[in-house]
Amino acid sequence: MNALQKVDSEIYDSIKKEEQRQSLGLELIASENYISKAVMEAMGTVLNNKYSEGYIGKRYYAGNEVVDEVENLAIERAKALFGADHANVQPLSGSPANAAVYFATLNPGDKVMGLKLTHGGHLSHGHPINFSGLLYNFVQYGVDEETGLMDMDKIREIALKERPKILVVGFSAYSRNVDWKTFKIIADEINAITFADIAHVAGLIAGKVIDSPVPYFDIVTTTTHKTLRGPRGAIILCKDKYKQAIDRSVFPGLQGGPHDHITAAKAVCFKEAATKEFQKYSADVIKNAKALSAALMARGYKILTDGTDNHLMVVDLRNKEMAGRDAEIILDKVGISISRSTIPGDTRKAMNPSGIRLGTPAVTTRGMTDKEMADIAGFIDQALCSHNDEKKLARIKESVEELCKMFPLTDFIPR
Ligand SMILES: *Cc1c(COP(=O)(O)O)cnc(C)c1O
Repeated sequence: MNALQKVDSEIYDSIKKEEQRQSLGLELIASENYISKAVMEAMGTVLNNKYSEGYIGKRYYAGNEVVDEVENLAIERAKALFGADHANVQPLSGSPANAAVYFATLNPGDKVMGLKLTHGGHLSHGHPINFSGLLYNFVQYGVDEETGLMDMDKIREIALKERPKILVVGFSAYSRNVDWKTFKIIADEINAITFADIAHVAGLIAGKVIDSPVPYFDIVTTTTHKTLRGPRGAIILCKDKYKQAIDRSVFPGLQGGPHDHITAAKAVCFKEAATKEFQKYSADVIKNAKALSAALMARGYKILTDGTDNHLMVVDLRNKEMAGRDAEIILDKVGISISRSTIPGDTRKAMNPSGIRLGTPAVTTRGMTDKEMADIAGFIDQALCSHNDEKKLARIKESVEELCKMFPLTDFIPR
């Protein structure tokens, strides 16, 4: 980054500081990951300079022969990776991808059914302060507040009563396998469109370690930067029947020119995700999540649904006399990044809810295993138990740094 250092030493220094932070800290935020050098290199290229509004062979600008090649590779790889009929690789991020799906299939005011944010859903699945909740008539389903699990009978009951035009299935904080097939059966009973948002678990689906909604669902969106370990962005997969509506909705409906450098990086990410190594990585992510949740439970922590089938877990801190944001701040002091989380039926405010969410995608990319998960559970427990003891917190921070140094990010952070 010689040029950057010369032109803008302030931004250069900030980036170096962030590299240091990522290298020496334990990243347990379930939606974060470290991308490969290959993905990062693809992003920092001249493809950034191009305007290519439109689609392959039908652009509104000249000079898109190479971009067409890049976008075609991204599309074909996405289709092969997920077994989809059609892929649109232009969405700029997860929320805009979801907006494009709604614009393609709904009129303002139409009824949609999605999982409540406080039960693990996403803002773009109908939260009242989000465009989705403002534009459409969302009815929400939740999980069982006792078990933390989706109750398919209850969901069917709400669906038959409300008869939404779309049934949205997706989550940011649910740790169990989703019964995609039953959702499809329920949707068929009321002629609803099935829309899955697999932003969190796309990597695990691509790695073939958990079930995919793609064979059953009409439309599937995913971000590319979470478990999938690609650039920040998203894609939309759909059955042939919806391809024209989806493509028109992304452009010209919602977006302008695609980010071709990011499209290239998405293509690289799909190529990496189709390898045996990535399949092993995905299996290890789940193995580590199970190990971390077991180690925390052994230390008296309550995990929603008593464990996990995927890369994440939500810890209910109500028996620990500590709230989620407070835990987030204490853990940050020792170099462990996590995110606060509501728990189903939470009586606390979203700013400082009763739980925290932990995930293993990033630490697994570093090469950590179940042994390190037990160490991490120990660090978390010690930090939360001795939160008033600054000396002790400083010692835990040293141990966290030592552990991180044993798993350097040499393959992921460019030197
Ligand atoms: C992360 C996430 C998104 C949003 O992605 P952005 O790229 O942050 O807009 C959408 N849906 C779900 C389920 C997510 O977890």
